[in-house]
Amino acid sequence: LKGTGLGPTPSKPSETQSPERSLDIDATLGDRTLPEFIPLAVPEIRGNEWRYIKECLDTNWVSSVGSFVDRFEQELAGYVGTRYAVATVNGTAALHIALLVAGVEADDEVLVPTLTFIAPANTIRYVGAWPVFVDAEPDYWQLDPQKVAQFLEDGCRWRNGSLFNKTTGRRVKAILPVHILGHPCDMDAIADIARKYGLAIIEDATESLGAKYKGRMVGHLGDIACFSFNGNKIITTGGGGMIVTDNPEWADRARYLTTQAKDDSVEYIHNEVGFNYRLTNLQAAMGVAQLERLEEFVANKRAIAGVYNQALKDLEGITVMPTRPSDRATHWLYTILLGHDTTVQERQAVIRILNSLGIEARPLWQPIHSLPPYLQCQALQIEHSVDLYQRGISLP
Ligand SMILES: *Cc1c(COP(=O)(O)O)cnc(C)c1O
Repeated sequence: LKGTGLGPTPSKPSETQSPERSLDIDATLGDRTLPEFIPLAVPEIRGNEWRYIKECLDTNWVSSVGSFVDRFEQELAGYVGTRYAVATVNGTAALHIALLVAGVEADDEVLVPTLTFIAPANTIRYVGAWPVFVDAEPDYWQLDPQKVAQFLEDGCRWRNGSLFNKTTGRRVKAILPVHILGHPCDMDAIADIARKYGLAIIEDATESLGAKYKGRMVGHLGDIACFSFNGNKIITTGGGGMIVTDNPEWADRARYLTTQAKDDSVEYIHNEVGFNYRLTNLQAAMGVAQLERLEEFVANKRAIAGVYNQALKDLEGITVMPTRPSDRATHWLYTILLGHDTTVQERQAVIRILNSLGIEARPLWQPIHSLPPYLQCQALQIEHSVDLYQRGISLP
């Protein structure tokens, strides 16, 4: 902000649109014209979406059974490399079911990052379990495996073949790494820890479909994984989700629980409390069409990230989005950091300036451990997550 002549908290949008500012932007653009408003993310619907959805309408296969549901599941499993896929109504429902099939029970604990969208923490509560919040590592902003290892080593003890948290007395059951912003977590380290302590790995891959960790697809790096096809995700079905796994029993159980735990398709026999969590054929039709273009979307996002990196890397006080050299990031939301001493108010001011120029921009998430529903939960040495939250800005 220093030297821009734009105070940290402009009261009116007009104050930020000084003539000099407009001239600068005109010069940068050259002959190109700036659209009036650049949104953070928009769905790309220019493939076979209309054709496949029309096919559903023409044939009356609009609801939760149909050939597009099967096709979407098979093709997504094929893309990720898992043996099974089960389509769900959204990514949150996928996480809820994944926790259940992974054996997470009421009063268990699940390790989850604090710097992420709130859905994974909420789904841990849906099954009656408790999140233990873990910090982000500063290099790639993902769940810090070292802090997980330290907690399990020093903060837990074995009893009757299970691992218990010394502070809360609860059983620690699973790790829920979230690959945030299109970048993979350090899954080799997380898998080593999970093996050593007998924990299940539930990947929240909702933001990172198409990303690769050391050449391996995100979503095929743990025991079970979830995707989201919400409107702002890399492919969209309006709303939708998917559970993927190599475990045949888990896949069957996920299918069963998402279809009201129906044990007889005619006689209404239900031996458990199930959920109505299946994706419709209409949505799956859109998903099949979107999936056809996924690699193109990934390539475009990577190209855009390259342009941003090139343009911003030499600006003082800006850290461009990092990518682990061995990985393929999708830059689902391209995010930069402002300078080290940036306050939340200053970051908010920068976002206001961008907004006033017609550029949508957003902060990173409030660390979940500081939100009211989670204030009572354990949080392990959180430092980098708060710093990233203060300094981060996601760009279109
Ligand atoms: C989008 C998202 C979800 C949930 O997906 P929905 O389809 O919106 O329910 C879960 N976790 C994370 C990290 C997300 O970004």
